[in-house]
Amino acid sequence: MSEILEFPHSIEQEIERMIEMERGICLLCGEFCTMRLGDGKPTLYLYCKACGFQAYIRKEQGILQYGSFLKAFLGEKSEAWLGGGGKDEHR
Ligand SMILES: [Zn+2]
Repeated sequence: MSEILEFPHSIEQEIERMIEMERGICLLCGEFCTMRLGDGKPTLYLYCKACGFQAYIRKEQGILQYGSFLKAFLGEKSEAWLGGGGKDEHR
């Protein structure tokens, strides 16, 4: 409970912001990667420039799974990311 107070955003807000910025987390190397949600359709596309990982999720179930992954990942990393003033890595 108290961990949320340490950060300017909740994990949900952070994920929403990442969706707006079309930014996801690579499942392979854990770097930021391109993430695009389908227009009206339950699809999610991931592409990582760092390692070349590419994925296309076609079912809502899979997208929800990816959402759970993001939450867990951000939960672990939020201290490093949000505490550091938000470093921006565009490659
Ligand atoms: Zn990667």
